Amino acid sequence: MSVNALEEHEGDYRARQIRLGTWIAVGVIVIGAVRVHLDWQGGPLLVAGIGVIAVAQGAMALLPWRRLVFEPWLQPVLTVWWAANLAVLLAFTAYDVAALAIYPAGVTLILASTAALASERAVIGIGLASLAGYVSLVLTRDRPVAGTLAALTLALMAGVMWFCARTASNRRRLDTARLSAERRIEALLETSSDAVIAVHPTSGVTYSSPSVRTVLGYEQAFVTGDLLTDITHPDFLPTVMEWWLSVANGVPGFSARVESRIRRADGTWIHADVIGTNRLDDPSLQAAVISIRDITERKELEDELTRQAFADSLTGMPNRALFRDRLEHAIARNRRGGGRITLLLVDLDDFKLVNDSLGHTAGDQLIATTALRLHQQLRAADTLARLGGDEFAILVEDVTEVEAMDLGDRLLAAIRRPLRLGNREVVCTASIGVATAKAGDGDDGPDPGELLRNADLAMYAAKAAGRDRYALFDPAMYADILREADERAELERALAAEEFVVYYQPIVDLPTSRLIGVEALVRWEHPLRGLVGPNAFIPLAESTGLIVPLGRWVLRQACRQLAQWCADYPDTERIRMNVNLSARQFQHEGLVEEVGQILAETGVNPHQVVLEITESLLMQDTDSTIETLGRLKQLGVRLAIDDFGTGYSSLSYLKRFPVDILKIDRSFVDGIDTEHGDATLAEAVVQLGRALQLQTVAEGIETQEQWSTLQDLGCEFGQGYLFAKPGAAETIASILGGAKPS
Ligand code: C2E
Ligand code: MG
Ligand code: MG
Repeated sequence: MSVNALEEHEGDYRARQIRLGTWIAVGVIVIGAVRVHLDWQGGPLLVAGIGVIAVAQGAMALLPWRRLVFEPWLQPVLTVWWAANLAVLLAFTAYDVAALAIYPAGVTLILASTAALASERAVIGIGLASLAGYVSLVLTRDRPVAGTLAALTLALMAGVMWFCARTASNRRRLDTARLSAERRIEALLETSSDAVIAVHPTSGVTYSSPSVRTVLGYEQAFVTGDLLTDITHPDFLPTVMEWWLSVANGVPGFSARVESRIRRADGTWIHADVIGTNRLDDPSLQAAVISIRDITERKELEDELTRQAFADSLTGMPNRALFRDRLEHAIARNRRGGGRITLLLVDLDDFKLVNDSLGHTAGDQLIATTALRLHQQLRAADTLARLGGDEFAILVEDVTEVEAMDLGDRLLAAIRRPLRLGNREVVCTASIGVATAKAGDGDDGPDPGELLRNADLAMYAAKAAGRDRYALFDPAMYADILREADERAELERALAAEEFVVYYQPIVDLPTSRLIGVEALVRWEHPLRGLVGPNAFIPLAESTGLIVPLGRWVLRQACRQLAQWCADYPDTERIRMNVNLSARQFQHEGLVEEVGQILAETGVNPHQVVLEITESLLMQDTDSTIETLGRLKQLGVRLAIDDFGTGYSSLSYLKRFPVDILKIDRSFVDGIDTEHGDATLAEAVVQLGRALQLQTVAEGIETQEQWSTLQDLGCEFGQGYLFAKPGAAETIASILGGAKPS
């Protein structure tokens, strides 16, 4: 084989190698370009591929066989190689670049790629303006130019590829981060107690959170622009519309809240707290964000609390606050309609007695039964309320006075029916006050407070008239109140001006008619009316509580007088001073201390003082009564039961109380010598006193016959006009003076 033939053979061999290398390089470039799009490893592959081609080009330039280049089959290969290289590269680069154009790096990438391609084209253009020329340039052994070209292309392409790879991997990292953030937010929204919806004012719902399903029960896809108005309760629609307009038209960031009732998918209604925030200016949202929270539970709790605040716990009926509210509304309605409002105040008679004697459970039972019975007599539109204690109020509209009276009768009859409390059958009655008001009675119609006061007055009038009845309000009732207020003021003034005086009525030993003591009886020296007896002012003093200071004053006067008499007439040390104590004084806490103090300051012998209490007082609250009586006895005073026989005290009661004297009431003495029955009763009382080892004093002895009969019955002492009328201290002094041994 000649040298030429050998060279030729060797050239063929090399050319085959280069062709193979070139194909591999093309393959690597294609793979690299594809992978650039997938991950960063594509970059180095591309660079490697291009590097191989560059090296191959350089190597080709060293080849002695130029004709190889011009072999016809190589032309399309080179063209395909370049086309494939560029097409794939450009396609993926363009794709990535377009996707990355929003990043600043993307812009740089575009510039760099453009620069790389342009410079390469320019170099080719300046050189031979064709691929074939370019290749022949390489093959004319102009190695510096070919090398430079190859290196330049390599460097530019490597830069572009590297940049592509880095940016792509960055973007993928960002994408993954964004995706997981979105998933997190979705998951949060799914479990959130708020349903979140983004609404654009014109294009409607642009987003709805997964929690729409849990909160509202609707599928996310179901949520459309009209949804809110569709599922809002008609009562709330106007406020919700107003709220939506304020949010949609508000400034960016403006937020407003509204409470609404919303229908869930299952048809139930929930109370919802809806908050809307204007985010129309936020490019990523461009909507108003609405969050809907189910507050049904809270609302129901609130309602329950409100109901409790306005309901009476025992009967479940409206309480005073709610009744007043209803009354005000009824009056406002009436003002327009011109109707008539009737108010009935029902108060049980003797409720306290039931409560004290049968216990609170029985008392509660009585209240509940009464409430039910009253309710049964009313129409659905009427309002029944428990104002407190045993007091009920009824509001009825548009009934005539006759109808109101008829209702009053029916209510009384219903309450009067016997009822069982525990194992007892009890009959309870009530007193009812009725007040009516008609629209136009005043400019603004009647005043609720005034109507209640009127009904109250009427109720008290019914009680005063004997209970178990109703009374219609009469303006004259105000006159009674005013008169009472005047009298009270007058009494207070009299007390301050010391217009009272104490008279003394002798109590005598019946057999001898000797003075054994006196009873202090108060009188009012009225500047206009003259001397006024106690029956005219004691009841008022009792009801107003003025009896406490008045009684204290009488006791002090009486004790002073006794001390004076004792000082003036030594024989007086045996006589006793009876002073009346009213029930009201007895309830006054400081009574025992006050009595003790008066005894001490006047220096009288307590044993000479007799406190008269009434029988009815003993019937009240016996334990504390016994205690007070005991404490009074410890002071050394004696106790008498006044007007004995008029009350209901039993023998067992009397035995329990530490009393010393019984005063037989005047009513027994009155007919003692004419009516057989009274003598028997008087005798019984005397014998009772004796059996209990109590002294007996007969009151109101006016005749000799009474005197002698009482003596016959064994009554020890007496008091009456027969012996002496109540008189000023001087008249007693004269008796004492006369009785004084000379
Ligand atoms: P009382 O304690 O039962 O007093 C007896 C009353 O009978 C006195 O009436 C007396 O004047 C009257 N009286 C006495 N003997 C006769 C008689 O033979 N015939 C008639 N017809 N009446 C006679 P007075 O003074 O008008 O007192 C009436 C009541 O006023 C007293 O009844 C007593 O309950 C009460 N009272 C009087 N002063 C006081 C007082 O200072 N404090 C209290 N709490 N009550 C007083
Ligand atoms: Mg008396
Ligand atoms: Mg009496």
